[in-house]
Amino acid sequence: MLVKNISQELKSEVSKRNWFSYWKHFKTNKEVYCSEINCLDKAEFGALVKKSSLDDESIFVIGLCTCHGKNIDQTHNHTIDLSPDAELINFNLTL
Ligand SMILES: [Zn+2]
Repeated sequence: MLVKNISQELKSEVSKRNWFSYWKHFKTNKEVYCSEINCLDKAEFGALVKKSSLDDESIFVIGLCTCHGKNIDQTHNHTIDLSPDAELINFNLTL
């Protein structure tokens, strides 16, 4: 599944929250691997994403390794392909 990183767009509003801790708090699987489809590194970075399909405006939090976390901020279209078992945590949950 392709998702688009929107962490930069939302940075000013939500920069005070630690999205990696948030993701770990709500995810059901105890393993904390990077959500990218081919990556087996440990996640150390939380990112805010939207699904690429235009009819879904929901915002989710995913966990990424440091490398993918940096890359997604730098690539032009800010998209990343997620693993089928990646956990997308709804952005609006209350801690
Ligand atoms: Zn990765």
